[in-house]
Amino acid sequence: MKRILVTGGAGFIGSHLCERLLGQGHEVLCIDNFYTGTRRNVARLMDDQNFELMRHDVTFPLFVEVDEIYNLACPASPIHYQFDPVQTTKTSVHGAINLLGLAKRRRAKIFQASTSEVYGDPTQHPQTEEYWGNVNPIGFRSCYDEGKRCAETLFFDYHRQHKLRIKVARIFNTYGPRMHPNDGRVVSNFVVQALNGEPITLYGDGQQTRSFCFVDDLVEGFLRLMDTGDEVTGPINLGNPGEFTIKQLAETVIELTGSKSTIEYRPLPQDDPRQRQPDITKAKAILDWEPTIQLKEGVSRTIAYFDALLKEGVA
Ligand code: NAD
Ligand code: UDP
Repeated sequence: MKRILVTGGAGFIGSHLCERLLGQGHEVLCIDNFYTGTRRNVARLMDDQNFELMRHDVTFPLFVEVDEIYNLACPASPIHYQFDPVQTTKTSVHGAINLLGLAKRRRAKIFQASTSEVYGDPTQHPQTEEYWGNVNPIGFRSCYDEGKRCAETLFFDYHRQHKLRIKVARIFNTYGPRMHPNDGRVVSNFVVQALNGEPITLYGDGQQTRSFCFVDDLVEGFLRLMDTGDEVTGPINLGNPGEFTIKQLAETVIELTGSKSTIEYRPLPQDDPRQRQPDITKAKAILDWEPTIQLKEGVSRTIAYFDALLKEGVA
């Protein structure tokens, strides 16, 4: 049994990770500043004596005794990370410095939730880990993209300079229960709009693509990466290679909800990547991992979650 720190543990992915780690018998210390996460996401874990929730902002140093660290703290939805862009960069960069410092003092293994956004609007398709990306350093998405890129740099410098054991995962679009109903990301937006019978807001012509990974598959990838030998540092892509246009996603959501919602076209946000698909050759070879949950099944489970949430009047 280990004592494991999960930063951003009250968020969408973090709450699923905490649950899985507790299920494996570990002690979990979940820290979060509740910027986009909520206590509600971890409410069911509060009775578990191995679970501890602490309000803390990762841009400030943290002194706790842990054996492993998963660093997920950072708003992930464009609306939220662009709301206070300076804080977003601080969260990624100062957060990484503080947690790497903690890992160094504890000699703890540390995992970084990096992102496919390090590839920017990619000119290579699908994206392999060797691709250096096509990122605008001064645009609206830069606070997130460059913050995450700098965090990767810090992880690798701590690894080289201080021999820290690091695990860097580049996560592609992930969805599922406990996404924030108002976080503006495409799956939650479309599902909530369809369930409410409101128009589905499709940005641009809807021909841009994304590859959507269900959260349970992703968390399995996290655990496998953390369990690898010290020689495995990543970066390693974790995502579902099944690529869909956003229009196809809208049609799938309408079909699965049986909604009468119409599609409403809106302008494409600035720097919105045209296409995104992970090459997961490395994850398959090194982690023996690949997603098992198909889009329709995952979207159905997500619809069930939001349906219950709307009926409770929470969203
Ligand atoms: P989320 O917004 O639900 O979770 C992020 C959590 O971090 C929230 O609970 C938030 O309150 C917390 N947080 C934000 N700033 C903080 C700070 N300064 N100190 C402490 N806590 C802070 O998003 P998510 O989808 O669960 O994403 C989790 C991680 O995975 C993020 O680092 C994100 O960048 C990364 N990621 C997610 C996706 C995806 O598709 N969901 C894709 C790529 C990368
Ligand atoms: N999108 C959309 N309608 C929405 C929300 C998003 O058409 O209501 C599009 C968005 O422009 C992008 C894709 O869906 O092309 C994925 O957006 P999201 O914010 O989920 O993630 P990211 O752009 O970071 O991959």
